[in-house]
Amino acid sequence: MLPDKSLHIGKAPSNALWALQGSPRLLNNGRNVVAESIKRDQLGTDIWRGANYRTAAGITLAGTMLIVRTFDKLTLDELAALMLHMGCVGALNADGGGSSYMWPLEMGWGRRLGAALVVKKGEVKFMGKLIAICDGHGMETPGKRTPMLPDGKVMKENEFNRDVAKLLDVHLRRCGFRTLLVAPTDVDTPLSVRTALANKEKADFYISIHANAYGSGGFNSVRGIETYHYPGSTKGKAAAEILHRHLIAGTALPNRGVKEANFEVLRETTMPAVLVEAGFMTNAQDSALLLSDAYRTECAEELARGICELYGVAYVRPAVTEPAETMSDLISIRVNGKLLGLKGTLANGVTTVPVRAVAEALGLKVAWDGVTRTIDLEK
Ligand SMILES: [Zn+2]
Repeated sequence: MLPDKSLHIGKAPSNALWALQGSPRLLNNGRNVVAESIKRDQLGTDIWRGANYRTAAGITLAGTMLIVRTFDKLTLDELAALMLHMGCVGALNADGGGSSYMWPLEMGWGRRLGAALVVKKGEVKFMGKLIAICDGHGMETPGKRTPMLPDGKVMKENEFNRDVAKLLDVHLRRCGFRTLLVAPTDVDTPLSVRTALANKEKADFYISIHANAYGSGGFNSVRGIETYHYPGSTKGKAAAEILHRHLIAGTALPNRGVKEANFEVLRETTMPAVLVEAGFMTNAQDSALLLSDAYRTECAEELARGICELYGVAYVRPAVTEPAETMSDLISIRVNGKLLGLKGTLANGVTTVPVRAVAEALGLKVAWDGVTRTIDLEK
């Protein structure tokens, strides 16, 4: 992968067999190089069905080339993580998002294309399992809220459920799953509508996210996490146990166990389904956690890790964006008037130099202790 702007059409490097161009770069040497400056464009909504499909090309260490086309909104960061997950060391986004795919003629809009590879219906099998994500209730569903909190506010259950659902959605798509948000709006979507959608779309798994309540108003001492499956469902039970184990391991809340219940979303779904109650709104300690971004983030990550384990998929950590290396970061080093063959770097006002080359040029003895990770320099 070559740096942006170092190539011209018709002027490939002399050792190139052939080259494919695209923009921006996603990966270089196995690292995410999506620039911070283009993050603001990451989820631009496309004109077709409000979706923003993405296409990317990548190359693995073994030299295999992969072309990936997503069926979901992905940020460039997520696309970079996906390409990394698929074993790519270098990857490019296909320019333009909307320019990288076609839509049917009957849409009545489009531009002429030079050429295209067309994948016909029925020719591809989707790799990723489809996970239905349910945020429990509507924002205004009666009764589903905390008692009055110390600051005089009240948290609605859906504030927690919805946040975790959205975060889980991002994690799962990054890990290669497809997702179905069965109630993506704040409207009080009936449970029957949620389960019917999951059944119609043939979701592989249904996860419903809730916060619990106990008692007859006011705070009490009942707290902790419980996870539910439908009575007698072996697949539901196995999934509930995995998800519950992750939630308990990743959070500080008491373990109230895996339980059975004849809940509508567990009963009416045709796929294995799990409902998590991630803490009690009616407990002061739990409600403080349920209100916090940190706890919501943790719950979403643990659920994602659990679903990955359930399907034997590696959990992909969010990509860490690193600034692209440019030639201007490199520095030359001259020792006693002689230029070294190796270069150093300058980043954030700090220079880093290859210590062995510099020390040996100065006539020092260099020893490396791999146990303490220490370099010893001696005259
Ligand atoms: Zn609930």
